[in-house]
Amino acid sequence: MSNGRAIVVGAGHNGLAAAVTLARAGLEVTVLERADHLGGGTATQELTLPGFHHDVCSAVHPMAAESPFFRAFGLAERVELLTPELSYAHALAPGRAALAWRDLDRTAHGLGRDAGAWWALLAPLVDDIRRLSELIGGVFSPLPHLTTALRFGWRALEQGTRAWDTRFTTDAAAALLTGVIAHTNQRLPGLGAAAPGLALAAIAHSAGWPVPRGGSGAIAQALADDLAAHGGVIETSTRVTSLDELAEADTVVLDLTPRAFAAIAGDRLPAGYRRALERFRYGDGVAKVDYALDGPVPWLAPELREAVTVHVGGSRADMVRSEGRVASGELPEHPFVLLAQPSVIDPTRAPEGKHVVWAYTHVPAGSTADRAEAVTAEIERHAPGFRDRVLAVSSRSAADLERHNPNYIGGDISAGAPSFLQLLARPRPALVPWKTPLPGVWLTGASTAPGPGVHGQSGWHAARHALAELHLPAPSLAP
Ligand SMILES: Cc1cc2nc3c(=O)[nH]c(=O)nc-3n(C[C@H](O)[C@H](O)[C@H](O)COP(=O)(O)OP(=O)(O)OC[C@H]3O[C@@H](n4cnc5c(N)ncnc54)[C@H](O)[C@@H]3O)c2cc1C
Repeated sequence: MSNGRAIVVGAGHNGLAAAVTLARAGLEVTVLERADHLGGGTATQELTLPGFHHDVCSAVHPMAAESPFFRAFGLAERVELLTPELSYAHALAPGRAALAWRDLDRTAHGLGRDAGAWWALLAPLVDDIRRLSELIGGVFSPLPHLTTALRFGWRALEQGTRAWDTRFTTDAAAALLTGVIAHTNQRLPGLGAAAPGLALAAIAHSAGWPVPRGGSGAIAQALADDLAAHGGVIETSTRVTSLDELAEADTVVLDLTPRAFAAIAGDRLPAGYRRALERFRYGDGVAKVDYALDGPVPWLAPELREAVTVHVGGSRADMVRSEGRVASGELPEHPFVLLAQPSVIDPTRAPEGKHVVWAYTHVPAGSTADRAEAVTAEIERHAPGFRDRVLAVSSRSAADLERHNPNYIGGDISAGAPSFLQLLARPRPALVPWKTPLPGVWLTGASTAPGPGVHGQSGWHAARHALAELHLPAPSLAP
């Protein structure tokens, strides 16, 4: 017996997380996706040459590894998550690297004089990782989470302000942490950068930073398979332009930005809510470069050869400079590069002996600049001979990223500036931020709490609130 009809717009992983939850609760679910493939920011394609499988957007999955939604869904039982012992590495100077092992003690030990400072910063978060992942996943109840929030907030305050310079005495420890904090595209130091950065740094020493065998598309496929098993349907190449197209559904879940929601809702939205959506700000962009390589990256620092994730950023001062240039609307001469070489741990990504490299760098919002040469030059500084290994390159500007997926406005891969306030109140201050004033219409996705990253929390929250309004219990998601 059907419990009603639901339409989910957007087959990103949040849309799929909502779809799976609704379908398991007995609703008839259809997912409408504008692209000709599913997954949104969680897709893998042969972007360069046949046999080279590149993650189109997300590549490394600490958030999925720790997210309450994916734990309930049993992701690790459905997708082979390959978790390296070296969670991430930092290219500090040619031939010099700093290393974050999954083992916290080993990491601290490698940081010499800063061993105690690294340990004191992260060990309390690592010991409390389950509650921390609930907190950053948008779950807060004062009793269990208050101490976690205070412990975490205090550290974010330190690392998100000038006080960050008081913790470490070595350039290695400072750069290692800054490389994670600089994931969030904004001027440093900043609270909106420090909070997610510290969470990622803590996960590095617990669940780790895995990549799925075969690529990120495996995560979207696992969700799609579960949806199909519970009667749900996905229609690709179907772009929704108006809520009128969804009139047959009792429940609508939109994996869209506030801007797109306002556009498809037309004049149905109350003026106050529309203004709140219009006030939501989008951040700077990303330019992405994918490489097919004839062999591994010839890093000068031998430790970097085994790292799946490498932050090519130099010193803390270098990263502050390059992120500051982007925030001022300029292209840095020496950009901070986030790089993953998943074929180091996953041979299915490329033909035998060959490799794939995934890289991106921050650029001003809407930039049309092709950053392939700038990114290649940064890698080459730390890995002379890299250029000679390149068989093919796929390069996309920030403007290209938006064309690829309209949720990445101006190439903003967070689908909304991850400022501290916009992380706390996303897309607006509300106890149930996924709820809209339109009956039965819910907003999900990276523009809503708890924000960007592959964790499924937003879709899960939206679907469970929708079910509660229908007086239906939240279903088990177990395999
Ligand atoms: C280059 C890049 C690197 C990243 N790296 C990482 C990483 O390593 N780890 C990590 O955790 N996160 C990473 N992220 C962020 C992560 O990918 C996103 O936060 C996440 O995918 C957002 O999921 P979502 O479901 O909210 O939205 P999306 O994945 O953006 O899905 C939205 C879907 O809606 C569809 N859509 C939009 N408009 C319409 C419409 N009108 N009608 C029908 N369908 C529509 C889109 O085509 C898309 O498929 C990265 C993102 C990018 C772009």
